[in-house]
Amino acid sequence: MEFAFTPEQVEFRRSVAAFCEKEILPIAARCDASGEFPLHLFPLMGKLGYLGVKFPPEYGGAGEGNVTYAILAEELGRASAGIALGFYVHVALALTAVAAFGTPAQKTRYLRPGIAGEKIGAWGFAEPGAGSDPGSVTCRAEKTAAGYRITGTKMFTTNSPFADFVVLTASTAPGQGV
Ligand SMILES: Cc1cc2nc3c(=O)[nH]c(=O)nc-3n(C[C@H](O)[C@H](O)[C@H](O)COP(=O)(O)OP(=O)(O)OC[C@H]3O[C@@H](n4cnc5c(N)ncnc54)[C@H](O)[C@@H]3O)c2cc1C
Repeated sequence: MEFAFTPEQVEFRRSVAAFCEKEILPIAARCDASGEFPLHLFPLMGKLGYLGVKFPPEYGGAGEGNVTYAILAEELGRASAGIALGFYVHVALALTAVAAFGTPAQKTRYLRPGIAGEKIGAWGFAEPGAGSDPGSVTCRAEKTAAGYRITGTKMFTTNSPFADFVVLTASTAPGQGV
């Protein structure tokens, strides 16, 4: 089995590292201190193809898979753990869930603009009383004529102050576990 990075992956790492040095390192300490998130990086990274690196070309991605995505996550994390987390939640949690489980209409509505950095995703898993345990989720999903009505409380939701959409866990049958 071959574990070495391909020449394309090595070049991708070099280009992301240069991007981080120019766009993230100079503002990282200020963002940590002020709590501000550099939202302008979403469309910038969308244009560079970074946000769609692991997703299918039919939705604007590069179809390069998870190893190339991991290179992106590593380099962002090296520049700023805080800024990297916002992009991790957007790409690895919210967009990945839409790509894996979304309908074609949901992929057009959320995945495509998410890859372009025009819409920002969040991930609502943690709840007071149901941290690591999905079977204890108390957030309810009740079927309605228009879709589902969601009732409940989430916490620690990264990106929530500015997200355009949230992918969340909710139970249609509370008390039945997972
Ligand atoms: C920086 C940051 C960003 C976050 N962003 C998000 C986000 O965007 N969306 C989101 O949904 N959540 C987010 N979280 C929350 C994260 O998902 C929760 O912190 C995590 O699920 C753990 O939940 P908890 O803190 O309630 O810990 P608990 O679930 O109470 O766990 C506490 C400890 O007990 C251990 N433990 C729990 N259950 C068991 C068990 N059955 N057996 C053995 N050990 C166990 C755990 O491993 C842990 O060490 C974020 C957290 C951080 C720190």
